[in-house]
Amino acid sequence: MHFGLSEDQAAVRDSVRGFARDKLAPGYLERAKSDQFPWDAHREIAGLGVFGLLAGEEFNPLPAEDFVAAGLAVEELAYADFNLANAAIPVLLMTSLIARHAGEAVRQRWLRPLVGGDAYVCLGLTEPGCGSDVTAIQTTATATADGYLISGEKASVTMLSHGDAIIVIARTTRDGETLGPSAFLVPLDAPGISRSPLQDTGWTPMGRGLLHLNRVEVPASALLGTEGAAFRSVLGGFDFTRPLLALTGIGCAQATLDETAGYVSERQAFGTPLARFEGVSFPLAEHATHLEAARLLCYSALWHRSAGQPHTALAAMTKWYGPYHASQAIRDCLLLHGNVGYSAEFPLEQRMRDVLAVEIADGTAQIQKIIIARELFGRQFVPYGR
Ligand SMILES: Cc1cc2nc3c(=O)[nH]c(=O)nc-3n(C[C@H](O)[C@H](O)[C@H](O)COP(=O)(O)OP(=O)(O)OC[C@H]3O[C@@H](n4cnc5c(N)ncnc54)[C@H](O)[C@@H]3O)c2cc1C
Repeated sequence: MHFGLSEDQAAVRDSVRGFARDKLAPGYLERAKSDQFPWDAHREIAGLGVFGLLAGEEFNPLPAEDFVAAGLAVEELAYADFNLANAAIPVLLMTSLIARHAGEAVRQRWLRPLVGGDAYVCLGLTEPGCGSDVTAIQTTATATADGYLISGEKASVTMLSHGDAIIVIARTTRDGETLGPSAFLVPLDAPGISRSPLQDTGWTPMGRGLLHLNRVEVPASALLGTEGAAFRSVLGGFDFTRPLLALTGIGCAQATLDETAGYVSERQAFGTPLARFEGVSFPLAEHATHLEAARLLCYSALWHRSAGQPHTALAAMTKWYGPYHASQAIRDCLLLHGNVGYSAEFPLEQRMRDVLAVEIADGTAQIQKIIIARELFGRQFVPYGR
């Protein structure tokens, strides 16, 4: 076992770190409070090659698909700008899904603009009536002579306000026979689509929203993968988006911890720097430990993915453990800043609201523990969930 990075991985980390800390960090808080998505910065990230990492041979700047490299890029972005890191994850998921499962027409239309940061494809899985229990989705796709008619509602779509298309998961019927859910790439300007924005407590530039699909017609080429098999293709992707999401929390919490270490070394109380009190330094030491443990768990899951080894339980572990400890670390760092920590002029309360949502998105802690428990005890003891 060794913990070193390959030359390629170190190069990705260093180039993203340099860009993120020099160019993104200074404007982070202003961007985080705006409902405009920072397309220019997103395109600059694309310029570093980040969005090609999982997009197949033609677009990958590295010789092979490398999920650890994707994790390093996301963590470095999150250290400087949580939202831009978060926005990168659906791009990595969608490029990977399209490269692996789409037909030529969809690949030609969407891969290059996605990799270049010029287009955005969202994910529509969660519905008003179900999120944790994805088997209960009600959106339908009915096969027609030359395509599908899709109707339903998607409740919680990240980047919906700014997106160009969406991968919709819909229960499929063909010739009266009900199949499982399938994945379809649906342009967001298709007739029959309407969008309603949500007012969120964080993730403001990411424009989350509700999507309504009223008999939306798509061609047969919109289908990704096999009819009725979306849970294998799309939900299999969650096994790498979960550690990536966890790394957004970890990167953001690490930045907060580093800033707080600086603050408590300067700020004085009772005639001495705060850092000299164990009541201040020990919680920070504990958070540093949890963040490092969470980080290693994430890179282990991503390494197993790259190596083609089982990693579903590992991915679930990252997704409850990482965001939970990231949230706790940011909360305690805010308190250690005293009254200034509570001010919206500093990034602490912003980060606390942003990272809290990582505990929900892509499945809550309870759902991750169901997945882990199922691996431990078997499906006969944990029958629910996908
Ligand atoms: C900021 C943000 C961005 C998101 N982006 C997207 C997106 O782009 N696309 C998309 O499709 N979805 C997205 N989601 C939705 C997200 O995946 C769901 O919110 C999540 O899976 C939980 O589903 P739910 O909200 O319906 O909660 P519910 O399923 O209603 O669960 C409510 C509560 O009950 C608990 N619970 C449910 N079942 C069990 C059980 N068996 N045992 C114990 N506890 C249980 C849950 O843990 C949760 O605490 C996003 C969510 C957020 C907050």
